Amino acid sequence: MSHHDDLYPPQSPYHTGMRGLCPRCGQGRLFTGFINVAPKCEVCGLDFAFADAGDGPAVFVTLLAGFVVMGLALWTVVVYEPPMWLFMLIFLPLALFVSLGMLRPLKGLLVSLQYRNKAEQGRLSE
Ligand SMILES: [Zn+2]
Repeated sequence: MSHHDDLYPPQSPYHTGMRGLCPRCGQGRLFTGFINVAPKCEVCGLDFAFADAGDGPAVFVTLLAGFVVMGLALWTVVVYEPPMWLFMLIFLPLALFVSLGMLRPLKGLLVSLQYRNKAEQGRLSE
């Protein structure tokens, strides 16, 4: 088998993805900015062009996180009846934090899973 990817030990897509690391070598950084995928891995040179997750999943996660926080917010209002300023003080930052906090690990995970899928397809066609 002459597959180039076999030079690298298999990486868990969860391990590399959630930490924003290269899905092949597990060492290079997957992102340049906050959620911008780098053009290629600085350690093993893997081209990240296959990562076509786009912003769809990211928007989905943000909405999902928004719903979770909204549910929590409603529950808090019903149970504790907090004053509005306290409510905003807690839930606006929380909504932002949860959405942004989930965005990057999830995008990393999607890219890692895409990489693994393509690697497996590559083996099938050899
Ligand atoms: Zn790499």
